[in-house]
Amino acid sequence: MPYAYDTTNIFARILTGEIPCNKVAENEHALAFNDIQPQAPHHVLVIPKGAYVDAAHFARDASDAEILGFTRLVAEVCARLKVMPGEDGAGFRAITNAGGDGVQEVPHYHLHILAGRPLGRMLL
Ligand code: C5P
Repeated sequence: MPYAYDTTNIFARILTGEIPCNKVAENEHALAFNDIQPQAPHHVLVIPKGAYVDAAHFARDASDAEILGFTRLVAEVCARLKVMPGEDGAGFRAITNAGGDGVQEVPHYHLHILAGRPLGRMLL
C-alpha cells in the first residue's frame, strides 16, 4: 500500500528550515528537537529526515542506513540527556503515536523520548 505523505506537515517544514526548532542533536538521517509542549522535564522528538508518515511506514520502507542513523540518534539523545538506564535509576520512555487510533497529530514519523522524572506505569 503506498503511503500519501503530506509535504506541508509541520515537521517537514522544520526539516526544510522554514519553521524553527530547538535542536538537540542531528545526523545525516535524523533530527532531534525539544517538544514545544513538554510532558516531562526532558521531552525530545526524534524524526527521520526522509518522508515517512509513521513508524510502520518507516520500518517498511526506510533504508538500512536511515534506520541505523535514526536509531543511533536516539542513543545520542539519551546520552546527551544523561538518561541512559543505569544503576542510579535513570531511564526514559520512548513512544510513538500512529494513525487515528494512535492519535497521531503530525503525519511525519516521530519518536517521543520522555525522561527526567519517574514516569509511572502506562495506563493502557
Ligand atoms: O500526537 P503526536 O505524537 O503526533 O504529537 C505531536 C507532537 O509534536 C506534540 O507533542 C506537539 O507538542 C509536538 N509539536 C512540536 N512542535 C511543533 C508542533 C508540534 O514539538 N511545531
